[in-house]
Amino acid sequence: MKTPPKSAWNPDRLDARAFAQAQGHLTLDTPLSRLPRLRDEADGDAPSLGSVHWETDAEMRPGATGAAPSPWLHLTARASLPLTCQRCLGPVDTPLEVDRWFRFVADEATAEAQDDDAEEDLLALEPRPSLYEVLEDELLMALPLVPLHGTCPVDLVHKAGDPGVADDDPPQRKNPFAALEQLKK
Ligand SMILES: [Zn+2]
Repeated sequence: MKTPPKSAWNPDRLDARAFAQAQGHLTLDTPLSRLPRLRDEADGDAPSLGSVHWETDAEMRPGATGAAPSPWLHLTARASLPLTCQRCLGPVDTPLEVDRWFRFVADEATAEAQDDDAEEDLLALEPRPSLYEVLEDELLMALPLVPLHGTCPVDLVHKAGDPGVADDDPPQRKNPFAALEQLKK
């Protein structure tokens, strides 16, 4: 069988067996805003969400007891998600990392039946999985239970002060020489 071109792999509905037989590899950058369950975890005050950089590759491995070879898939991901610090309630950029292997079995019923005995994570070949959903599941599991700053930024406290104070202290011109430079032109 000829190896299909890289663009043939559809992460939304991956043909995991063909991907593993071809020792496929995918490198993707996905905006975190595309992962709705993860987006819901983000701090509402965070200016923007970045993207998750992820890679996946797969291979066929022999079965444990002379059984037919199974497709195995390796997923690694790196992202930084702004969560809500549970001490100061400000946004705290939290690094998330995923590095996990999955073994594919025929279907979801088989995955459920074998799940308790298997050390590795199991995925079903059919219906074809969305790697975006697998990725999102793993990132959600990588979230800390209690997001916290190492040291909370103190200026968050001062921002809540009397806004009238600002009127007594007009903003200073940043650089008086800049005005002179303008005049010279
Ligand atoms: Zn904090």
